[in-house]
Amino acid sequence: MWKIARTGALASVLLASCGSLNIYSDAELEPISLQAYEEATSQHPIVTSGPDHDMVQEVARRIAAVTGERFPWQARLLKADDVPNAFCLPNGRIAVYTGILPITRNIDGLAAVVGHEVAHATRRHGGIRMTQAAISSVALAVAEVGLELSEMDRESRAYTMAALGGITQYGVLLPYSREHETQADLDGIRFAIRAGFDPWEAPKLWERMAALGSSGPEFLSTHPDPLKRAARLRAAIPAILREEAAAIRAPIH
Ligand SMILES: [Zn+2]
Repeated sequence: MWKIARTGALASVLLASCGSLNIYSDAELEPISLQAYEEATSQHPIVTSGPDHDMVQEVARRIAAVTGERFPWQARLLKADDVPNAFCLPNGRIAVYTGILPITRNIDGLAAVVGHEVAHATRRHGGIRMTQAAISSVALAVAEVGLELSEMDRESRAYTMAALGGITQYGVLLPYSREHETQADLDGIRFAIRAGFDPWEAPKLWERMAALGSSGPEFLSTHPDPLKRAARLRAAIPAILREEAAAIRAPIH
């Protein structure tokens, strides 16, 4: 009981600290991103062939190509039909759980989810959240650059996994801030458009999530207000489409 209350309080402290300070470079986060990826993706079988595997690889490749980031990109589809979730760790390590595929429904819906998660990585939201955790001292070990996940105590480890990419399987739920969510929504739409996907699948996806209600996916618990964001996306998409079309027409300097 004490543990639960304490964790809740720590999460509030962490969420209350805002801003976009990031004290971690991509290179500093690289070892821990890789460790977190291996650990999180080892919890379920990795799907290595078939149409769903191919779709995830195609979406990840096309989205990665338009970000302008030279990350060591990786994408894995994890066989977990009861886990409707996806994440992207710092430096472009993407994981999609099979449980989200019935909700994404098609390749454009999947692109909406992957585009959104990738945007958290390109905006360095993981590093920013690690910085917030370090500053508020919720998990002291988080602040130590170069420390391996295996060397951390349980709490620091859980916070690190949650801060890096919203990985919730270690018992810490760390929703992204509204600011980070808005950035990821808009960047995600832009990536999807640039990669040739249908951006209108994004609001449809959030509406499908809303329809699932309180029994909805794990994805929803870290990404609240699905109907509001669907409405915001519907309003934002025409302007983003115009901007992207103008960028294509403009000469490259
Ligand atoms: Zn998000």
